[in-house]
Amino acid sequence: MSTTMSPIAAARDALGSFGERLVGPEDGTYDEARALFNAMFDKRPALIARCSTPDDVTAVIRFARKHDLRLAVRGGGHNGGGLGSVDDGVVCDLSRMNAVTVDPATQTVRVGGGALSADVDAATEPHALAVPTGIISTTGMAGLTLGGGHGYLTRRHGLTIDNLLSAEMVLADGSQVTASADENPDLFWAIRGGGGNFGVVTEFTFRAHPLQTIVGGPTFWALEDTDELLAAYREWLPSAPRNVSGFFNFHTIPPAEPFPEELHLRLVCGIVWCIDASDDEAKAAMEPMLSIAEPLMHGVDRMPIAALNGAFDGLYHPGDQWYWRGDFVREIPDEAIRRNREWNAKMPTFKSGSHLYPIDGAAHDVGNEDTAFAYRDATWSQVFIGVDADPASAPKLREWTVGYNEALRPFAAGGAYVNFMMDEGQERVQATYGPNYGRLARVKAAYDPDNVFRVNQNILPAAA
Ligand SMILES: Cc1cc2nc3c(=O)[nH]c(=O)nc-3n(C[C@H](O)[C@H](O)[C@H](O)COP(=O)(O)OP(=O)(O)OC[C@H]3O[C@@H](n4cnc5c(N)ncnc54)[C@H](O)[C@@H]3O)c2cc1C
Repeated sequence: MSTTMSPIAAARDALGSFGERLVGPEDGTYDEARALFNAMFDKRPALIARCSTPDDVTAVIRFARKHDLRLAVRGGGHNGGGLGSVDDGVVCDLSRMNAVTVDPATQTVRVGGGALSADVDAATEPHALAVPTGIISTTGMAGLTLGGGHGYLTRRHGLTIDNLLSAEMVLADGSQVTASADENPDLFWAIRGGGGNFGVVTEFTFRAHPLQTIVGGPTFWALEDTDELLAAYREWLPSAPRNVSGFFNFHTIPPAEPFPEELHLRLVCGIVWCIDASDDEAKAAMEPMLSIAEPLMHGVDRMPIAALNGAFDGLYHPGDQWYWRGDFVREIPDEAIRRNREWNAKMPTFKSGSHLYPIDGAAHDVGNEDTAFAYRDATWSQVFIGVDADPASAPKLREWTVGYNEALRPFAAGGAYVNFMMDEGQERVQATYGPNYGRLARVKAAYDPDNVFRVNQNILPAAA
């Protein structure tokens, strides 16, 4: 700090128009304002600035730079690695900029930089439209989109970034620009997968797709059936039509409604389906997998996509401890199947597990170098999650997740989805962007040469 005042006092002086939207350690709302989805991170920023307009964002960036304070940008605060906040620095909090406006005539949706996936679903559903998002609806749209964004509609309509038409941004020098195919196209290329490295997005414009309801929900089988099921799934999924999707998963049946009591705490493998087709077509599409082994539970029904996007929000609520790892996967050899089964037989807690999210279909229509997202030729994005409510579980969550990930790494494609990474170092970030890293570093040097936006999976500015 270049001043003798505390950051919050200096901010009250410099950013007076924020009023109660500035929150510091002395304020009664501080603990609520600084809390992150992943309670494994207990960061204590010097100052949280809740922005309402792009001009607010400009003012906060300039304030942080003037006072030499680290700057974090918070969308939904869901990041696994806690990157929506920073110790002793400034949080540029976008949560109040969460408006969503649907234009049914053009089938486009404007989404504020602090909106959650649930906000988008709530606005699009009355128009029978959908923007592809993720599988938990409390996730922030900004972090999810800037990393790529995959979910139930990826095979049908591509990654979330494949549906991004433009973004309104505030850059490191405080200027406000549009990134689109026509304006600042290099910036538009970089933000489609490159994370929050290039500026603060205050508003996205997405293309939406007509969608009334889907056939969705989980089927669970005994974990012992993994070998046959995953061997069948690795062939079935890539050959399934694009309107059919299902992510393979390993879980423990939660000890709660609506799960039948006799299945509580049973280790399982499963598929969570999302099929955009008639009931009969959906039944026929699932049949090849359902005929492999007798399911323990088949909880599939017709529902709005918004209902499926929110179906697991109650289980995965804010405040748990999370340790994540990820990998992109092209093939699942028999040995990988065996290791998945073995590691899930020793799951540390009932909320832990692993998912293989399909990223083929429409996501493969875009080339590896067409956007910053560099693994279009992978078929799955696998996530390994150790989750529990009890902070004392943190070490065992980490140990299991890292051990499981390392056991599967020999079969992985080389990098991981940035939104499933913890603090894993520069080499891992570079592996994740592969041949795109050099271009990303050059765009970073052009738009953020001083690396103001570095509380993220950081891309270092290329040397001049
Ligand atoms: C339970 C759970 C389920 C998930 N499921 C999926 C899924 O199905 N599909 C998927 O793709 N991902 C999924 N994710 C991962 C998710 O995409 C990331 O956690 C993402 O970072 C969350 O975005 P956020 O805005 O909530 O995060 P934040 O913690 O607010 O921010 C994350 C990063 O994005 C940057 N950022 C945030 N907002 C902005 C902005 N407006 N402008 C510029 N930079 C910004 C931040 O600086 C930070 O580096 C899931 C996460 C959780 C916790």
